[in-house]
Amino acid sequence: MMESPRGEGQEEEEAVVRNKQVILKDYVSGFPKETDFEIKTGDVRLKVEEGSSGVIVKNLYLSVDPYMRLRMRKPQPNPSYFSSFSPGSVMTGNGVARVVDSGHPNHKKGDLVKGFTGWEEYSVITTPETLYKIQTTDIPPSFYLGILGAPGLTAYAGLHGICSPKEGEYVFISAASGAVGHLVGQLAKLKGCYVVGSAGSDEKVDLLKSKCGFDEAFNYNKEQDLDAALKRYFPQGIDIYFENVGGKMLDAVLLNMRLHGRIAVCGMVSQYNMDKPEGVKNLMLLVYKQLRMEGFMVSDYYDLYPKFLDEVISYIREGKIVYVEDTVEGLESCPGALVGLFKGRNVGKQVVRVGQD
Ligand code: NAP
Repeated sequence: MMESPRGEGQEEEEAVVRNKQVILKDYVSGFPKETDFEIKTGDVRLKVEEGSSGVIVKNLYLSVDPYMRLRMRKPQPNPSYFSSFSPGSVMTGNGVARVVDSGHPNHKKGDLVKGFTGWEEYSVITTPETLYKIQTTDIPPSFYLGILGAPGLTAYAGLHGICSPKEGEYVFISAASGAVGHLVGQLAKLKGCYVVGSAGSDEKVDLLKSKCGFDEAFNYNKEQDLDAALKRYFPQGIDIYFENVGGKMLDAVLLNMRLHGRIAVCGMVSQYNMDKPEGVKNLMLLVYKQLRMEGFMVSDYYDLYPKFLDEVISYIREGKIVYVEDTVEGLESCPGALVGLFKGRNVGKQVVRVGQD
């Protein structure tokens, strides 16, 4: 056997490293638990195959989002926007990462990127054309998972694209201290609206009023009667409702909408762990009050991304908007962070720091 040139085999060996991963064990019904996941360690080669256009990245921050729970369900008989994860496979989602090796002309070693990646230390990205190169140097990279990522664009598109807020209008936001909610409120304040949010703890209520500039906020867990609570905060009624939770809150809001009000249906997090969703009783009020209630997906608004980035990066630089991020450390924290979204443990955008840059 011919001997390889000195050092070549060693280099090959050095390119292979251990890779910790979070695996979904099986489909989930009901409330998710940390034991629905397991941590495994495999190997990954940090060199792209000769001729491949793939990109290998070291993950730095991973995004934890409510929609992931919908992907943990068994495949649904009715059409569903979200395909199910495959049990036994590594979880996937958005992340910010450093390019380690690249076979793609748009990405080179050392680039900082955001895009669809895995819940693991290193990922091989086979669709590198979907990666976005982060070029700002004065903004923390993790912001590209929140205020400058899908939650920020969701807030922007849902508020401006669907509700067209006007100065002086009355705006209500549920899950208001979350990734999307606290940004919707601040964008509405920048338009001159009167803004009230609901959240699940007194700490979150304080944050909304003292840091995020909401006019009012209330702890829905302390309210026996949501209709009465809304009448207290909106004696004149609600023009715009940014819907994040669904269920009883939506029924109460419908009772309090003003004529020609608008409801942007962003999500219904209170329903994601139910095998059978709750019904909504007051839908006839859509007719009587001539309301517009419209669901939307952020993916329909990706063409707005450059305009949105310009605008929101300026708000950040000028200190016109406050971004609240909830960071937990280490890949092992991913399952707990995801379960925590449904217990209201996160304050602001939930991210996991998985690697040192
Ligand atoms: P988030 O608000 O940061 O986190 C979820 C929050 O939901 C929790 O902190 C908790 O806050 C609240 N919550 C959990 N269980 C609840 C329940 N049973 N009843 C009421 N509130 C509950 O998450 P996010 O990423 O900003 O997402 C907010 C909503 O936007 C979700 O419905 C999500 O699915 C949706 N979304 C939609 C799009 C789209 O394209 N349409 C894109 C992104 C997100 P409290 O402590 O206040 O209860």
